[in-house]
Amino acid sequence: MLQLRPNCEYCDKDLPPDSTEARICSYECTFCATCVETVLHNVCPNCGGGFVPRPVRPVTERRPGLCLAKRPASTERVHLSKDKTEIAALAAAVRGIRPEDR
Ligand SMILES: [Zn+2]
Ligand SMILES: [Zn+2]
Repeated sequence: MLQLRPNCEYCDKDLPPDSTEARICSYECTFCATCVETVLHNVCPNCGGGFVPRPVRPVTERRPGLCLAKRPASTERVHLSKDKTEIAALAAAVRGIRPEDR
């Protein structure tokens, strides 16, 4: 199950569960669309992978136990573990390679 992390790791913007701006990599590293497009250039600074839009968890319980209230989003904020200069260097090196070829 996705954790639905509450913030962008890079700029700390809030990304609530219903946000359409949240982007995740295959490890669920979570960033906002603006950082993915303008700073990260679709390169996850933690794993080098690409991003996709994070799905929105339904608030309506249409199947037993499966809705945001029953399976709540994470409240644990996550912050960068690398410095921004190093992240820029990784993005520059990897951005020209398609995610499916990384
Ligand atoms: Zn951001
Ligand atoms: Zn990642």
